[in-house]
Amino acid sequence: MDMHFKAFEEALLNNDYSSLLKIDKADLHAHAYLSAGWNIYKELNPNITTPPKFFNGFSHFLSWLEDNRVAPNKTNYAKIIFSAFNRMINEGVIYTEMSFDLHDCMFMKMTIAEWGKMIQDLYKPFSKRLQLCLELGINRKDEPETSIKYVEKAIKSAAFQSIDLYGDELCRPISNFNNIYKLAKSAKMKLKAHVGEFGSAYEVLSAIECLNLHSVQHGNNAVNDEKVMSCIRERGVTLNICPSSNIALGLYKSIYEHPIRKLFDKGIRITINSDDYMLFNSGISNEILLLYKSKIFNTPELWEIITNGLQEASRKCYIV
Ligand SMILES: [Zn+2]
Repeated sequence: MDMHFKAFEEALLNNDYSSLLKIDKADLHAHAYLSAGWNIYKELNPNITTPPKFFNGFSHFLSWLEDNRVAPNKTNYAKIIFSAFNRMINEGVIYTEMSFDLHDCMFMKMTIAEWGKMIQDLYKPFSKRLQLCLELGINRKDEPETSIKYVEKAIKSAAFQSIDLYGDELCRPISNFNNIYKLAKSAKMKLKAHVGEFGSAYEVLSAIECLNLHSVQHGNNAVNDEKVMSCIRERGVTLNICPSSNIALGLYKSIYEHPIRKLFDKGIRITINSDDYMLFNSGISNEILLLYKSKIFNTPELWEIITNGLQEASRKCYIV
């Protein structure tokens, strides 16, 4: 065991949150516009209401976001994204796959090139410490035939290294996005999608097979089917899990009901992530402490999970 593990072990033994912050980690499931600290959103929208500790499902979550949105003008956007990078650095995150909505540049009336330049300028002060994989976020509610035109442009800009499908999992079949993912695959992007948070185990498997996914955002419901779990393990697909987000959205009453341990015991590659820090106020260090204190995982197991995340930065040989 190396000295970094020793420091990690000591931080957990002593319940030392500030030492835990200094340990290198990765965040592979983070929505950029919702990844800064709460104080920033409060400053930009004084009328924002405090988010509930528990949402009554996904539609309640979406309606809260709609009612409390911070207008995405250039000033607000820059402040939030800068703060999100800064927050990650303070948390010891050295690699992130951060998801930006396909339409962000349109909301601000910018071209993709202008938007890309703005992100690179915001990222520059952090670039020595934080490796950034820009992820193109496609909202599942947007008509795929329309989205694909923007995806083509985004891919041509070469700003993005990864693609993700997010939003309401149940609103249309995953196969509708085949053409978008074929494009992304041919551009050698990392292929990811939100599935199995609300959808079934079968839908997780069908998304992996249909879109040739390297990683799944959530994927929790895979736990309900042995065959699906075996396939995920055999294909080497990573599940980027966000326990606090899942609990806040009412999927599980507490961490003790969360399937993360069962998925890990099946030999599935898992990581832990923040999802929407703005709402859940839980970065990776907090997730680690939650899982440690509740005795879901011991120290070597948590170290393995943290290492899984860090390895994604250099994991180029995807099994597809
Ligand atoms: Zn998410």
